[in-house]
Amino acid sequence: MLSKTVRNIVPSGTVAINARVFDLKASGIDIINLSVGEPDFNTPEHAKEGAARAMAENKTRYDKVPGLIELRTAICKKLKEENGLDYIPDQIVVSNGAKQSITNTCFALLNSGDEVLIPAPYWVSYPEIVKIAGGVPVFVDTKRENDFKLTAAEIEEYSTEKTKMVILCNPSNPLGTVHTREELKAIADVCHKKGIYILSDEVYERICFADEFVSMAAVSPEAKDITIVLNGLSKSIPMTGWRIGYTASTVEFAKAMTAFQGHITSHPSIISQWAGVAALEHREEYTNMMVAAYKERMEAAVKYLHEELPEVPCIEPKGAFYLFLDISCVKDKLLATADTFGNMPLSGSDSYSKEFVMKLLDEKHVAMVPGSAFGKEGFVRVAYAASKETVLEGLARLGQLVKEILAQ
Ligand code: PMP
Ligand code: GLU
Repeated sequence: MLSKTVRNIVPSGTVAINARVFDLKASGIDIINLSVGEPDFNTPEHAKEGAARAMAENKTRYDKVPGLIELRTAICKKLKEENGLDYIPDQIVVSNGAKQSITNTCFALLNSGDEVLIPAPYWVSYPEIVKIAGGVPVFVDTKRENDFKLTAAEIEEYSTEKTKMVILCNPSNPLGTVHTREELKAIADVCHKKGIYILSDEVYERICFADEFVSMAAVSPEAKDITIVLNGLSKSIPMTGWRIGYTASTVEFAKAMTAFQGHITSHPSIISQWAGVAALEHREEYTNMMVAAYKERMEAAVKYLHEELPEVPCIEPKGAFYLFLDISCVKDKLLATADTFGNMPLSGSDSYSKEFVMKLLDEKHVAMVPGSAFGKEGFVRVAYAASKETVLEGLARLGQLVKEILAQ
């Protein structure tokens, strides 16, 4: 009865774990939730006031499909001030969250059978959206010696005449790594040479502890021509539920995405868009406060891991709010003792990282996401979008579990 497209989709592993946490909490169990990547800060007051003003002034009607001109103008201003990028409002398409912007991009660009390079580990929705749009995800097996960051050489190695696009998540979910200007330039050069477009997912750009964050489109004029910059208000400003994402691209792409989005959703909620205008106007102070808090938690977590849990190394975090922990120390014990795997619909096949997070949830009441959901076995992702004490308690319980498994 169901279409092949839908039957082919693997449900989101991050969303599945979060749903399970909600169920456990509803049954009265107190869970430390370090699974879902959602800021623990509230939407800033000025954004809420922008929404309230819009409602009071009856600004609640249909508007232009690619978004309010006021919001697209504010986005252009942000791109200029923060990223040194010149875009005009006709190059911006505002959508219902970055997820829809990825969907718009894939439908605007891909023909059936076109290949899309996706460095693994990847954010869970990339391969599924590519498949929905008729494309073929091709996973790049990134290397530990590069902290699993995609390199220009890997694009050379994995691309074929069918490769149409590469998706780069920078700062990375789930790795927490950040590409340098030189690394981005090398990737852009090889993509330009080979006629490959770049979808540069920069939703975590403001949460960056590296010396600088560089947008892919800023590394050269050629890079800007082939890059679709993807961003939104869910992470840099905590506005996940308002559902505002956007792309900056060529006018031609923007027109194509607008035509597509015009049939699917029109524009996102006008009220959310007015909240977005206000949020972008006053973003600086709030973002700095949040980033300082994330940095403090990250440093405390890394220190704890180094000092108390050397069995579990972690990729050095430079941005976003994730730690990607190497739990390969428990591999042999878990594979030897596992008889049942959890039955959650996670991306990827059954795996020991999934077995590990199920034990962690059931026995220690801590939620994290298995590496297998991101296409990388042997790891778990910790979202440190929770208080420092909560993150440290979650890691301490993870440490207990590791020690118990190793003692078996
Ligand atoms: N890209 C990445 C890397 C993400 O982690 C997320 C998280 N939801 C998204 C895109 C989608 O964000 P949005 O809430 O704007 O749809
Ligand atoms: N992007 C977040 C995460 O990776 C939110 C969940 C989702 O939308 O997948 O956890």
